[in-house]
Formats: sequence, structure tokens, C-alpha cells
Amino acid sequence: MTIMWRIIISFAVFFSGILSHIVDPEQYLQSYGYLAKSETGQHSPITWKGAIRKFQRFANVPETGRLDEATLSKMEAPRCGVADVRGYALPIVSWSRRCISWKLINHTPDMSVEEQKMAITRGINYWTTVTNIFFTEVGAHEPADLTISFGRGNHEKTCNPFDGPGGVLAHAYYPEDGRLHFDDDEFWTEGGHDGTNLRIVTFHEMGHALGLGHSNDPRAIMAPIYQGYWPHRDNDIVPADDTHGIQSLYGVKDHTMTSRSPIIEPVPTISPQQFNPCTETFDAIFTTDDGVTYAMKDGVVAKMSPQEKRPVYYRYYDLFDVKPTVDTAFFSNIPLSRGLFILSGTDMYRYYYDKRSQTFILSPGYPKNNADVLRYPTHPDAAFPDPSGWINIYEGDRFVFYYVGEKEVRSEKTVNFHGNLPSNLDAATAKDGLAFFFKGSDYYTLVPGTFKVKGPFRKDKKWMGC
Ligand SMILES: [Zn+2]
Ligand SMILES: [Zn+2]
Repeated sequence: MTIMWRIIISFAVFFSGILSHIVDPEQYLQSYGYLAKSETGQHSPITWKGAIRKFQRFANVPETGRLDEATLSKMEAPRCGVADVRGYALPIVSWSRRCISWKLINHTPDMSVEEQKMAITRGINYWTTVTNIFFTEVGAHEPADLTISFGRGNHEKTCNPFDGPGGVLAHAYYPEDGRLHFDDDEFWTEGGHDGTNLRIVTFHEMGHALGLGHSNDPRAIMAPIYQGYWPHRDNDIVPADDTHGIQSLYGVKDHTMTSRSPIIEPVPTISPQQFNPCTETFDAIFTTDDGVTYAMKDGVVAKMSPQEKRPVYYRYYDLFDVKPTVDTAFFSNIPLSRGLFILSGTDMYRYYYDKRSQTFILSPGYPKNNADVLRYPTHPDAAFPDPSGWINIYEGDRFVFYYVGEKEVRSEKTVNFHGNLPSNLDAATAKDGLAFFFKGSDYYTLVPGTFKVKGPFRKDKKWMGC
């Protein structure tokens, strides 16, 4: 094949991929976790608009709630086949061991075997530069934790089919499944702008295989939309968002360990979790009226239900549409102010809670802006509802009481509150009619109907279930 011939073929594949990839927005939003499948085939305007807004936030286009040009063009872009929103069924998990074997099951005809092995190895090894994980390639007939293969169309009976050129490029499964699949209807390359870069896509898919979901940071390798070949970034470091994510699962890279053989690394004893609500501070905590408590910190939610022995972890965007910076949150079951309220900067979000599915649905008209109507403290530390319908918001060392009605939130009175309650609380919640305040590894409670403080107590096994 002459060089010219190869260029013509690769361009033909590239452009036919773009042109043939027409997206059905409803199907797209359902496939990637933004919209639940509806039995009637109908979606309420609120659900539909909410799903579009959530995608827009993820794709970094203005949140109009409409299928505008910017939104549709993001939907048509080549991307990873893994859902952006994991939902309740898929909490964050990681491998229980640090020493992970992999093998290549078959090859793409687009590159020489040596070229593709090199690209895949480099794609995998990005992760080893920032965290304590080790990879070993094993022979074709040996068992391996991770299996990498190329396929097209309905490549595996149990798996989502690929869609021809363009659209979905690859997908991988969360731990401890170990499968990484690349769509062989793409033209896989390394070292040039034509086709799809095998190293970069391996880097991304390996993130899933290690336990990472998609990121809405456009600079992250875990952003769902393919970012193209990086000509000047061959030896790039792992982007900050991805580094933070992988280190939360496997720890910060210990450079003293790198010279040792990975074979003798001990099995890790730490469990996969993003933060420990028993010992660490958090940004917000709330308890739903079916007794499930959620602690929130830096974009991660620890869900503690009476049925579970240990917290289960989610990213904020698996459950809500809020930014990672949350000041406080409270759950109210007062008839006129029922729901979950999340305060983040100048935004107040309100969600209806669907007990049956344990999901949160954004209420019409929210988020509302604090500066115009609400005027609650701008940096609240903690908030909880009391049985009379007042919301108690705590900032620094003062309480401010609000009433949340159907129309607005209004300020009522400010009470200086000292005594045994520490200043600058981490968070507060109400459970079984009692208020609980959290600071560091302690919690406090009030004698019902009074401001008399009881505590501190350790927020230990009894409270957090861990
Ligand atoms: Zn992906
Ligand atoms: Zn597959």
C-alpha cells in the first residue's frame, strides 16, 4: 500500500465516521445515565429538561435545558461508551489488590503488533506514575485480571454493541470485571492526528477498569468525550482531577516502593473509600425521612442506610446536579417545605425525594439565588429543620432561623448561641426529631425543645455505621 492510498483510506474512515453518526438525544441521554427509561415512552418536561441540563453540565456547555446546537454537537462527538452517571446501582469500587496482570486477547489490523502493544502499555502506565498500582503483562494462555480486546458491532453477547465508525470508541468495566473493549470500526493510530489515538483511549478506559467514573472537568482524561491526539503532550503527567480520583482509591504514589518487584507487594488492607465519615470532617450531612443518612464532602457522598454495615460511596453527580462545593444541606419533611435542600455558594437547590427508588428529583424553579430573595448566610456551616418548620442555619457562632415555604425563604431572627456547642461546625442533621451537630470526630445533640447541648460524643460506629 502506498502512503497516499493509506492517507485516503484513513480520511475516508474518519469522515464517514463523523457523517454517519446521527444521535437520537433521548436514546443518548438514556444510554449515558442522564434519563431513566420511561414505561410509557413519555418524559415530563421537568425530567427531560433536567436530563439535558445535567448533560450540559457534564459536557461543559451552557445549561439551557434545551437541545441547542452546542449540546447536539457534543452528543455527536466521538466518546467512551461507559455511562456518565453511575446511578445507585454502581457505587465506587476499586481492586482489592495492587498488583494487576493484563493481556492483549487479539489485535487491530490498523497498527503493527509491536506498535499497538507499545501504545497500550504507555496508556496503562500513566496511572502507575501517581498511585500505588502495578501492572504485569502475561502471556496469551495465562489467566489475567485485565483483558484487552478489539471487536466490532455486537462483539460480545453480554455487552453493549459498538456502533460502527465514530460515536462510541471503546468501553471498559468497573472492578473487578477487568474487560476493556476497543471498537475495531475505528482506525487506531499512534503518533498522528488521523484516526483515534490508542494510547489516549487506553489511558481513559484503564481509568474505568481501575474504578474511576467519568469526570465533568474538561481537562481530565476521564472526561467522556474523546479529546484527540496530544502532539506535544506525549510525556504528559496525569491531569489533576484524574490524579485526585485515582489516589482516593489507591493512595498517593509511594516512591520508595517503585524499585521493589511488584510481585512481592502485600495485599492492601485499606478498603476502597473516598473519605471516612467516622473520623474525617465533611461539608454537609442530611437524613431522609426513611432514615438514610448522606454525608457529603468534595464531590463524594457517603450513604449510610440502616440495612448496610458500611457506607456506600457515590459522586455528587450520580445523585444530584450540584457543584462539588457544597456549604450545607438539610432534609425537611414539613409539608410546605418538604424535600432536600442543598446550599452551595449563592445557589439553593431543592429536590423531591422519591422513597421507592431512593432518588432525588430537582424541583421546578430551582436552583434559586440567595442574593435576590433568600438572604440566608452566604457561608453556612450547618443547617437542620426543627419540627415547627423553621430551618436553623448555623454560621460561625450564631444561629439564624428561616422559614421555608412554597414561595420563598425569609429571615426571622438571629440568636447568639454559645454554650457548649463549638464554633464553625462541620455539619448538622435532624434524625428522629432530634438535632445532631458534627465537628471533627465528635457530635453533639440538643435536649429536645431547648438549646441545652449534650456532648461531645464520638461519631463512631453507633452513628455512622462504620
Ligand atoms: Zn469512559
Ligand atoms: Zn464490550
